This record gives sequence, C-alpha cells and structure tokens, in this order.
Amino acid sequence: MRTQFIAGNWKMNKTVSEAYDLAIALVSGLRAVRETEVALCPPFVSLTVVKSAIANTPIKLGAQNMHDQDKGAFTGEISPLMLAGLADYVILGHSERRQHFGESDAFINRKVHAALKHGLRPILCIGETLEQNERGETEAVLRRQVHEDLAGVAPADATRIVIAYEPIWAIGTGRAATANDAQARCAYVRQQLRGLFGSAADAMRIQYGGSVTAANAKEILSKPDVDGALVGGASLKAEEFIAIVQAAKANS
Ligand code: PEP
Repeated sequence: MRTQFIAGNWKMNKTVSEAYDLAIALVSGLRAVRETEVALCPPFVSLTVVKSAIANTPIKLGAQNMHDQDKGAFTGEISPLMLAGLADYVILGHSERRQHFGESDAFINRKVHAALKHGLRPILCIGETLEQNERGETEAVLRRQVHEDLAGVAPADATRIVIAYEPIWAIGTGRAATANDAQARCAYVRQQLRGLFGSAADAMRIQYGGSVTAANAKEILSKPDVDGALVGGASLKAEEFIAIVQAAKANS
C-alpha cells in the first residue's frame, strides 16, 4: 500500500506573512487528516515561517528547487546543505525550471544525488510538452527523463524519491489530463522505474500534476498508479487545497 501524497507548490506566490497565514489555515483545515501525506512547498524565504506554522502536525515542508553544490560562488542559489534539517522534500526538475532556467537532465540528476546525500526527499518532475504529446512522443520523453534524471540512484534509495508526472500542457492551463490518461502515463513511469529499481518501484509514489482542482481530484486520485498530486494554482487557496486532500482521503 502506498500512502497518497498531496504536495502544494506555491511557486513565486505569497509574501512571508501571507505564507504563514495560508499555512495556519491549512493546519486548521487538515487537522483530522492522517491517512494522506501532505507537504507545503513555499518560496525559500517563507520556509522557516511555514515550518513554525506546521510544527507539531504531520504536514511536511518542501522547497521548490536547490543547487547541486553544498556551497560556493553561485549568487542567488540555495544549497542542499542549507535545506537539510529545514525541509523534508525538494521539488526538482519542475518544467518551469527546465523551460525558463535551462535546467538539463544532467543537472537535475546531480541535484537528485545531492538531495539524497543530504537526507532530502526529491519530488522529481517529469512530463512532455504539448508538441511532444501531439507527435506521440510522450512515452519516449518520460523514458528518457526517468533514465537520465535517476541515473546512478541505488535501488535502496529509490523509495525516498517521489515522481511527479506533469504534462506541461496541463500546468496552469485549466486543462488537466483525463484520469485514464494520468493513470496510463503513471503506469508507464512505474514500468520504467521497475526496470531501474525492480520491486522497489512498487513502493515509490507517483503523483499526477497539472490543473488538479477540488472538482477533478477524486477521479484522478482514484486511479491505481496515481499516488497523489502535485498541485500548483489550487494550492494557494486553503479551501480548495483542503478539498483536494480530502478527495485523496475519500479514495483510501
Ligand atoms: C505545478 O506547477 O506543479 C502545477 C501542477 O501547477 P497547476 O496545478 O497550477 O497546474
């Protein structure tokens, strides 16, 4: 049995005080939830206040990115050493990092290793563009990303990694994948993970991400290979995010 995992990616939204207020509202609204794992991923500057808001609750903290080096002349970057002990999870390879900041699979692979070395659990984002989807290249893209981003990871570490399958055409567009398509892609990703890690792949969580809302969450999350969701826009509204978490719970 894999525990459903709902993570909120707040992206570049919320001031520090707004982030604190949102976290407090979520703590209150999610008090009764125990069956589903929840993580909040605020901007770096709000990690400490959100950590204080969720103290003494099962809610986990995630960062949205990090560099692969522990320290050095990388102005504006945050290192795994700085996040260790602060965050539980770190989102790596988000399509916005790949698209806008030119992050390569080789760089993302180094980050995965750095996160694991420092006890951080990667939420590794993969997914195809609209053009790749329309050309029928989705599986080839997912296969390449899984193999390149996870190269050299030991099977013993695999279960510390969460995969977020996020078709880029579904992110922030209001056009989510159908539940059946999300299931088919997540099942394909798991098949690739089995090739790399054997039976450990059956214990790995694979989230779906891309325009998940309170309205579509229950159906998407009911699928056997969809083990949760990475939620962007809908994670910024307490009621909406709480409803998504409750949709996962309702399926369990
Ligand atoms: C995301 O950015 O990871 C995401 C899934 O965004 P949204 O839910 O807004 O599509």
